Amino acid sequence: MSARNILVINCGSSSIKFALVNEAQETFILSGLAERLGSPEAVLHWQQGEHKDSLVLSGADHRLALSHLLPIVQQAAAGALHGIGHRVVHGGEYFSSATRLDAVSLQAIRQVAPLAPLHNPANLQGIEAAMKLFPDLVQVAVFDTAFHQSLPEHAYRYAVPEALYREHGVRRYGFHGTSHRYVSQQAAQMAGLPADASSWLVAHLGNGCSTCAVENGHSLDTSMGLTPLEGLVMGTRSGDVDPNLHSHLARTLGWSLEQIDAMLNKDSGLLGLSGLSNDMRTLEQAREQGHAGASLAIEVFCYRLAKSLAAMSCALRRLDGLIFTGGIGENSALIRSRTLDHLSLLGLKLDAQANARCVRGVAGAIHAEGHTRVLVVPTNEERQIALDTLALLD
Ligand code: AMP
Repeated sequence: MSARNILVINCGSSSIKFALVNEAQETFILSGLAERLGSPEAVLHWQQGEHKDSLVLSGADHRLALSHLLPIVQQAAAGALHGIGHRVVHGGEYFSSATRLDAVSLQAIRQVAPLAPLHNPANLQGIEAAMKLFPDLVQVAVFDTAFHQSLPEHAYRYAVPEALYREHGVRRYGFHGTSHRYVSQQAAQMAGLPADASSWLVAHLGNGCSTCAVENGHSLDTSMGLTPLEGLVMGTRSGDVDPNLHSHLARTLGWSLEQIDAMLNKDSGLLGLSGLSNDMRTLEQAREQGHAGASLAIEVFCYRLAKSLAAMSCALRRLDGLIFTGGIGENSALIRSRTLDHLSLLGLKLDAQANARCVRGVAGAIHAEGHTRVLVVPTNEERQIALDTLALLD
C-alpha cells in the first residue's frame, strides 16, 4: 500500500490552519492558513514546497474557504486523500483519545462547548463544513484535553464544593495534550527508552505555555486547568493569580467580569509584565539593551516555570528527563538556562554549548554530563493528529 495522506485542520473563530501530511514524509506536502474569515479581507495562503500562493476570498466563511481549499489539497495529494483530522480544543470527560466523527461524537463535542466557548464552536464550524464537503472521507477529532484524562482524581479536582464538579464539570482538564504526548514519545525514542516505561517532565512553551508530568505514556498532572489560563506565565495570559483578584478588582475599581477576563487573557503575561511585547524574541533583545520590564518578564517567566516543574515532579516516581518544546522551548537557550538555574535540587544542569546548539528545529540532549537528561524536542501537533487519524482508519 502506498503512503497515505491526511489533511489536518485547526479551525479558530475566524481562521483555518491546515497541513497535508503524508505518513512517510517528515515535511508537510502542503500547509497554510485561511484568515479573517467572515470579513471583506478574508484570504487563503498556502505553501507547497518552495511555492507560495494566496487567494482573496472576500466575505468567505469556513465552508467557502474549505471549498476553495479542496481542489488545492486534491492536486497536492495527487487525488489520494485518505482522511481528515480535526483539532478540537475541549473533549471534556467524554473523550480520552481521538474519535471518529459521527452524529454521536458531534453531539458530545457540542455538549462540552460551554467549557470552551471561544474554541469548540469554531472547531465545530470547521468540522460541520468539512463533513458536508467531504462526506465520503473518514474524519477524526483529536482533542487537546484527551491525553490528560488519565490524571488521578487528586490532581484534577479543585477544592471547591463537590456539586460544582458533579453538576457543572468544574475540574482541571489540561490542554496541549497532543504536544505533550508527541514530544514525550519522541524523547523516549531519542533516549533509547520505551515510551511505556519512561518518565518525563515536559515544558511546552509557545504563546500558550504548560507543563506536564508523563509516566509510562500517561499524563499524571499538568499545569493548565478548567481553562488554558491556569498555571504558567504565557504570552498574554497571566497564569495563576490569587482567585480573589476578581472580587478585589470588581470592588476597588468597579471592573466587570468581561474586563477582568480580557485583562487576564489578553493584557497580562509577558506583555503585561514587560509593558513591551508578548514575543520572547523581542523581550530577549530588549533585555540585552537594558530594558527593565523585559528583564523582569523573563525572570518571572522562568521562576514560575521552574516552580511548576518542581510541583509536577510530585506526580512522578522516577525522572528520565525534562523536555523543552514549543517556540520558546525549542529556541531560547536563555529561557532554558535561567529556568534550570532554579532547579539544581532536582539534579538538573545544562551543558552551555549543547544548549546554545539546540535552536531552530535542532533536537538534542543539552544536559551536563553526569546530570539528569534534558532534551530539546521540536513539537509537531499536526503530525500527531495525522497519526491519530491514520490509526482510526485501520
Ligand atoms: P509558538 O506558539 O509555539 O509558535 O511559540 C511562539 C513563541 O516562541 C513566541 O513567544 C516567540 O517569540 C517564541 N520564539 C520563536 N523563536 C524564538 C527564538 N529564536 N528565541 C526566543 N523565542 C522564540
